Amino acid sequence: MTNQTLTVASLGFPRIGRHRELKFALEGYWSGKIAESDLLETAARLRAEHWALQRDRGISRIPSNDFSFYDHVLDTAVMVGAIPPAYGWSGGAVPLSTYFAMARGSQGEGHADCGHAHHGHGVPALEMTKWFDTNYHYMVPEIAEDQEFALTALKPVEHFLEAKALGIHTRPVILGPVTFLKLAKARPSTFKPLDLLPKLLPVYAELLRRLSEAGADWVQVDEPVLVLDLTEGERHAFTLAYEALAAAAPKLKLMLTTYFGALDDNLAAMAALPVAGLHVDLVRAPQQIEAVLQATRPDQVLSLGVIDGRNIWRAGLAGIIERVEPVVSARGLDRVEIAASCSLLHVPIDLELETALDADLATWLAFATQKLDELSILGRGLAQGKSVVLEALTASTKALAARAASSKVTDPLVQGRLSAIDAGMRERASAFEHRRKVQAEANRLPLFPTTTIGSFPQTSEVRKARAAHARGAMSYMDYEAFLRAETETAVRWQEEIGLDVLVHGEFERNDMVQYFGEQLSGFAFTRHAWVQSYGSRYVRPPIIFGDVSRPNPMTVRWWEYAQSLTDKPMKGMLTGPVTILNWSFVRDDIARSETCRQIALAIRDEVVDLEKAGARMIQIDEAALREGLPLRHRDWQHYLDWAVECFRLCSSGIADRTQIHTHMCYSEFNDIIAAIAAMDADVISIETSRSKMELLDAFRTYAYPNEIGPGVYDIHSPRVPEIAEMTDLLSLARQRLQDRQIWINPDCGLKTRKWEEVRPALVNMVAAARELRNAAR
Ligand code: GLN
Ligand code: ZN
Repeated sequence: MTNQTLTVASLGFPRIGRHRELKFALEGYWSGKIAESDLLETAARLRAEHWALQRDRGISRIPSNDFSFYDHVLDTAVMVGAIPPAYGWSGGAVPLSTYFAMARGSQGEGHADCGHAHHGHGVPALEMTKWFDTNYHYMVPEIAEDQEFALTALKPVEHFLEAKALGIHTRPVILGPVTFLKLAKARPSTFKPLDLLPKLLPVYAELLRRLSEAGADWVQVDEPVLVLDLTEGERHAFTLAYEALAAAAPKLKLMLTTYFGALDDNLAAMAALPVAGLHVDLVRAPQQIEAVLQATRPDQVLSLGVIDGRNIWRAGLAGIIERVEPVVSARGLDRVEIAASCSLLHVPIDLELETALDADLATWLAFATQKLDELSILGRGLAQGKSVVLEALTASTKALAARAASSKVTDPLVQGRLSAIDAGMRERASAFEHRRKVQAEANRLPLFPTTTIGSFPQTSEVRKARAAHARGAMSYMDYEAFLRAETETAVRWQEEIGLDVLVHGEFERNDMVQYFGEQLSGFAFTRHAWVQSYGSRYVRPPIIFGDVSRPNPMTVRWWEYAQSLTDKPMKGMLTGPVTILNWSFVRDDIARSETCRQIALAIRDEVVDLEKAGARMIQIDEAALREGLPLRHRDWQHYLDWAVECFRLCSSGIADRTQIHTHMCYSEFNDIIAAIAAMDADVISIETSRSKMELLDAFRTYAYPNEIGPGVYDIHSPRVPEIAEMTDLLSLARQRLQDRQIWINPDCGLKTRKWEEVRPALVNMVAAARELRNAAR
């Protein structure tokens, strides 16, 4: 039986290159430093490298068209001709400049702080939003009611042929038509993009015919919306779509690919589709395997996503073989494929690059390249018997056992604190109504107090000093002195323009999560483990590998210094536990909620220390609370329950007179307003300027009792708002809230803006507050 094989598939590989080659080529091209041909050459080189690497690591089903210059959803929009008129395309091949205009706007750099595209002058970029519950962002296609679709580009065919010329037979990956339309936005919003499916299908049919003619035998069609709550009509769209596509290219086999969750109530509809194969995520939803086996036709190929494509932990290979063996016996070796749960786009490329990691930790991890190795071991073990890969299985078992037993992972003190959490620790001493009076008495703020969200511009001087300090070219003392000077300037200036509640400016922080992670136990940081956040922006998320605790105060020193410069109240500034969790690679050996509670206790310690040092107001940012919402509605409440509990846990260890602020970077609150209220922050600042305060309706309808700072300054734009614009917005706010509830602040932190913009904008904001106070008298 040693000649038997099992197909081992890769659903997608990181595009960015081992050394971020794609980023540097893109940015070089955008700034005019390299020619288009250079960019194309780098891209082709990366593709060739990644195909060869996957082949050499034993992958038998190698993807093509997973490469993208910016984003695969944008690629799809361009390919089907869904290009809004503003970008000036009038048929024919789509130039790279049009593609990048859709990605980044036709002028100015893109920014993704808080997940929004930045709109400069000229034509703005398409909107950007999170790809399901990952930290990857895609460009939202815009579809007009009278949209015409046309096959404008043949990238999937070209890349298939490019690989073929290199001697590598690939399985092209395309984004399925239903997911494409479901993720798109209707302009105007009077119809549903999915209504246009019949018009889109001929374009997909044509593409599949071309792929078949080019020699493709299988195509991977990604339809991740199948793990969401779908309506009957949406499920029917799948039937319509896949009947048409199956008929278009009868020889081509389609691997309908789902990931990020279970099919559940969509399984029956999905299993009935005329497709040759079905990929399911068995990492997020291992329990669905039985049902999938039952529901699918015996001749359908099952692709089992058993290696975690979203996280960086090494897998327990022996256990996976145990679980998959029965499926292989039931379905047959030639009817099963083994794969990662999803594309490896969401993990860093190669652990070998990390030479400075803790030696134990390094043996517990697997990045994209290591995951290919794991897959190939599984493939051999399942096809030829465990004995063939015994050594590898033993190594994996040992590594997992070492991780489970490591004193670096488990901290008895943290465990003890966790088990001692009681209801009282999640409860402020008194209800808001009482706290409000105590705080008003203590702080004596004017009506409509003004403040900012925390950060001030991270100028090139600040970034240069940080970089110089990091590489040893600037001494600790000099760096410290520099940061103090920046902070002092910012504090004096805030006093001068008359803001009521000040911030220190966050000049010492590289990133709102990293800054805390670096000071907490249980966190590790990498040097090269980049993952794509959007376009050419990559991030290196912290790795939470062990029980989290806070050995020392993290922000108290900076707060004390800043407060020493002024008599006005200085806000303490922290990142909340849910946000730290959602922007990290989280350990998979305990529940996320447990890790979150540990972080909450660490932040709680910091809150208590800030209060002890004299802070009267402490802001705990929860920018990523909403984005952690599960994909299925029925799972929301559980998540919100523990997320809110963690926020309360970190913010309740203080006296009534200490005012807790929180900040959230988004504009949808209707469906989570009860949870927001349950957080019981004394003051919440939110992003409202673009929505014209409409989102305050949620707060009004709910009769939200605590104080609110609706953003009046759109920090995603370089524009300086006029006083009148802000007073107009504020009068809209006053229609929805009581005056005593209202704070005045920008939408978000100001770190991406320039001082030239921030100065006049905040001067106007303070003037707007004064006008309002006069009018309210
Ligand atoms: N305090 C942070 C800042 O001002 C908040 C940013 C955020 O929540 N995205 O930068
Ligand atoms: Zn924000």
